[in-house]
Amino acid sequence: MHLNLAYRWFCRLGLDGKVPDHSTFSKNRHGRFRESDILRQLFESIVERCMAEGLVSANGFAVDASLIAADANKQRSVPSSDWDPGEIKDDACRAAREYLATLDDAAFGAASPVTPKFIARSDPAAQWTGAHKGHAFFAYATNYLIDTDHGVIVDVEATRAVRQAEVGASRTMVERTEERFGLKPGYLVADTAYGSADNLAWLVKQKRITPYIPVFDKSTRTDGTFSRSDFTFDPEADCYICPAEKKLVQFRRAYATPRTGVGADGTRRYRASKKDCDVCELKARCCPNAVARKIPRDLEEDSRDVARALAGTPEFETACQRRKKVEMLFAHLKRILRLGRLRLRGPCGAKDEFLLAATAQNLRRLARLRPPEFEMAA
Ligand code: SF4
Repeated sequence: MHLNLAYRWFCRLGLDGKVPDHSTFSKNRHGRFRESDILRQLFESIVERCMAEGLVSANGFAVDASLIAADANKQRSVPSSDWDPGEIKDDACRAAREYLATLDDAAFGAASPVTPKFIARSDPAAQWTGAHKGHAFFAYATNYLIDTDHGVIVDVEATRAVRQAEVGASRTMVERTEERFGLKPGYLVADTAYGSADNLAWLVKQKRITPYIPVFDKSTRTDGTFSRSDFTFDPEADCYICPAEKKLVQFRRAYATPRTGVGADGTRRYRASKKDCDVCELKARCCPNAVARKIPRDLEEDSRDVARALAGTPEFETACQRRKKVEMLFAHLKRILRLGRLRLRGPCGAKDEFLLAATAQNLRRLARLRPPEFEMAA
């Protein structure tokens, strides 16, 4: 900076301006910038500029998460059985103190009750993950919510690299975008990880957003017997109809004290009559090892049915094509912006880097709007 005029201009220093100590920049980044929330304000001001330029229509949003390696090594980690958060003292490193501060945060410590196999002492909030099917590593997840028209990132969130945290982040981002910019998408497109019954019910019933999301469903059988999809649900009669046209119901008699029918696992169970199954020709293909067939139904199955009905429609296929824009942004983030590994530690470090990277990617979108005359003159 002492010698380079461009750097002086960028930092608004005159030719004889005193150059601050180099540590001023990192101190600002770790302290003042973080407390002032300036990086989020910067990101949001760029989104507003994109909206003003007509780059955000809110016809539809896509959401996805990508893993970014944390600045933590396996060699310096400990098995979680040997880890005690109580050993973190007041004078511990910033990342360790942030870990304690985010233990109850749904995006970090409280995201999942499952304890990871290893904990990094230098960055305990980083998640040990083998999600890439190759070697496991410590990582954070960057979550993008994008407008599918022009691929503008309308919100970004840092979380632990676990599915529950990523799904929670998608809800946080949808609500924050509505609150900050008044943007509510007509549809949300995402992969199966976001297709749980709870999440679909939140989208369909609470937010009234069309879910172009494959249903997260483990009910398909692979042993040749009928799956749940071979049974048809009749909502008016509140029963399933089996392939032999018999009814599966919750109750076969009236109870003096009416029952809710909801089991401990939060599902309703519909049962076939033993009399029907005993004489059924299809029993070997239906319930060869049981007296009668049972079908569990999630309390939010109606929302899953909405998503199932949408799957395979031309609109669903178009939305899935548009979802690729979020994957392209992640590829750009890692290959061009080179954010394959974080430089800052702790949840706040990850938040800052993800916010800055998303801001840079939106600025790139805006720059593409340059009028043709400007390009020719340049
Ligand atoms: S075995 Fe029972 S439930 Fe299955 S198809 Fe036959 S009657 Fe229906």
